Amino acid sequence: MLAHALGRPASWLHAHARDPVPRLARRRFEGLLARRAGGEPLAYLTGRREFWSLDLEVTPAVLVPRPETEHLVEAALELVPSSAGARLADLGTGCGAIALALARERPGCRIIATDLSAAALALAASNAARLGIDNVEFRRGHWCAALGRERPALIVTNPPYVRAGDPHLQGDGVRFEPREALVAGTDGLDAIREVVSCAARHLAPQGRLLLEHGAAQREAVRRLLAEHHFSDIAHIRDYAGRDRVACARLAPA
Ligand code: SAM
Ligand code: GLN
Repeated sequence: MLAHALGRPASWLHAHARDPVPRLARRRFEGLLARRAGGEPLAYLTGRREFWSLDLEVTPAVLVPRPETEHLVEAALELVPSSAGARLADLGTGCGAIALALARERPGCRIIATDLSAAALALAASNAARLGIDNVEFRRGHWCAALGRERPALIVTNPPYVRAGDPHLQGDGVRFEPREALVAGTDGLDAIREVVSCAARHLAPQGRLLLEHGAAQREAVRRLLAEHHFSDIAHIRDYAGRDRVACARLAPA
């Protein structure tokens, strides 16, 4: 926050540890400190968050990308060979984190990034432009409806999966984030149910679905995938050892 208030990179502080802080920067810093103490996420205060080594702009219109979601990117890259020219989709892209990471790593692929929120999509598109990423197309719409007649080989998504009333929603940072990015009904599975069912209709035959879910949702997600004729269901753990991403393959046509 001090570096941000000074308009310098954080490394600058180490090289100038004994410099006095100019009055204006000090006032700015104290303002930021007060807002952070009130629970606002650091990323909303600086307007920036790094994800997959990409410097992303974030605003209170989008969820702050989480490091756990990089597991989903990693798993997607394992499924998509670096020479591939496939069509991929990221549903509920927020600031564009997943779509932009995949686009940067797989320049031969075309990625459709969707969201229901126009503000999120505008931010994601501006992140893409600033980073010089031009293989992502942004579309507004309710989950797979935004895909129209496209049949992607891979759908990735980090949908909202927190249950309404979960005390976690009152936690540090989280209470400033958009509800519609976090909350999905009384069991937290409303969005996952919709995504699994529409992905089964919109994926190419034998296409893959990769979705992030909550640590306690593994069995429910597995059941939903099996009910919609997905096979090869696997779960990927986060660094805390909890199953957080499900991967599954759609049956042949
Ligand atoms: N993909 C980003 C990430 O991983 O940081 C943001 C994920 S955030 C948990 C979920 C996103 O889904 C939000 O950007 C929200 O606006 C979007 N969303 C919620 N309901 C949606 C719907 N019905 N159709 C499309 N997107 C939706
Ligand atoms: N991981 C987020 C949290 O802990 C939840 C993200 C989501 O609902 N997709 O708040």
